[in-house]
Amino acid sequence: MKRLPGYLNRIEGELWLTEDERENLKLSYRIKDVLFEEKSPFQHVMVLDSYDFGPMLVLDGVVQTTSMDGHIYNEMIAHVPLTLHPAPQKVLIIGGGDCGAANEAAKYDTVEAIDLVEIDEVVVRACKSWLPEVSGNASDPRIRYHYVDGVKFAAETREKYDVVIVDSSDPVGPARQLFESEFYRSLFKALNDDGLMVCQSQSPIMHQDVMMQTYQRIGELFPYRKMYTAVVPTYPGGLWSFTIGSKRRLPEPEHIRFSKKARYANEEILRRCFALPTFLEELLASRS
Ligand code: SAM
Repeated sequence: MKRLPGYLNRIEGELWLTEDERENLKLSYRIKDVLFEEKSPFQHVMVLDSYDFGPMLVLDGVVQTTSMDGHIYNEMIAHVPLTLHPAPQKVLIIGGGDCGAANEAAKYDTVEAIDLVEIDEVVVRACKSWLPEVSGNASDPRIRYHYVDGVKFAAETREKYDVVIVDSSDPVGPARQLFESEFYRSLFKALNDDGLMVCQSQSPIMHQDVMMQTYQRIGELFPYRKMYTAVVPTYPGGLWSFTIGSKRRLPEPEHIRFSKKARYANEEILRRCFALPTFLEELLASRS
């Protein structure tokens, strides 16, 4: 009997991926096929073909992105900061091995260079081969790949960036330090005087502690910060948060101009994503 890759179970002859989200919540996906599997020096990497979400990237048993909804996350983590900055030229992406955010950043003519700093080369290789719906044209010559720890890169870089996008996995394993103040301090130093950063700050419902800690830590370093949300169906709870830290006052959302080709993002969505539900507004106000 062929060995089942980790995190997969065969139940009544069917293959299932079960994500162990928390004690009382497990997320299970029926799987058609294992397209790619490799244990890298950093994590267990799989691309699975699922019945309802198509091909999906799974790291250490946790779904990172899928061909069905990956564009929602990648368009929102990229286009919000890139439209808030007047003319982004130098972009740094920490993590983002599925190349989705880099693809969106490559849609800006002003952008001259995109440094993609991904700790695990296996993720990029797997996504380019098996997840083209998300990785897209990851061969744009402006994308420069660095297979190093983002914490080390940010601390040592002498480059100055206009926009930094932290597209990390959950705050466990290799990504744990990407939620630490020391890392945000390095990003602050690597940004130009009118630069801004954004990071995925987890679920406002399932991970309030991490979300609030992230919001607080960014607020301790950056004079201006803002949170926005989007709905990513395959992420726990669906509702997902993003936190911006900016060195200069951010333009009002109604000044956002956006006409790029996109499947989820449009001008209204980018302007209204800052409208937060009352419970979230109260939570943020309680820590301001
Ligand atoms: N959107 C996804 C999410 O919210 O869960 C994350 C997508 S992306 C695939 C996350 C990437 O961060 C992974 O490829 C992982 O290898 C990378 N990563 C984790 N820790 C890292 C580190 N310290 N430096 C650079 N990349 C890191």
